[in-house]
Amino acid sequence: MFINLKSAHTDKVGNVVKFFVLSGHGCFGRYLCRIGREATSGCHHCDTGDEDTALHTLQECPAWAEQRRDLVAVTGLDLSLPAVVRTMVGSNTGWTAVSSFCEHVILAKEEAERERERTSRLRSRQRRTR
Ligand SMILES: [Zn+2]
Repeated sequence: MFINLKSAHTDKVGNVVKFFVLSGHGCFGRYLCRIGREATSGCHHCDTGDEDTALHTLQECPAWAEQRRDLVAVTGLDLSLPAVVRTMVGSNTGWTAVSSFCEHVILAKEEAERERERTSRLRSRQRRTR
């Protein structure tokens, strides 16, 4: 698949690519778990106990219900990866809807990950001083 990119869109595109690349890795939680940065592969954003995969994020995770509603308004209810990719390349509206979903989710996930790292650093510092 070839997409002609304007440079102003590069950041957005970067986030979308990141979303799907991380997804392809068996995704966020599961990937982070495998590389030893997370103790579990479960989703940190909800309490379903599901693994934090791209499809979980895209289709199921209640944490992103609001963003998903905006997305589904454009894409329709089919949130399988091929359908989403079709939407993205199909129209500017589709592209914007998908990329803003990915952008929002990636930023929120990165923020949450930094927060968890900060908390666990604090905890290990407390252990050392005791
Ligand atoms: Zn979740």
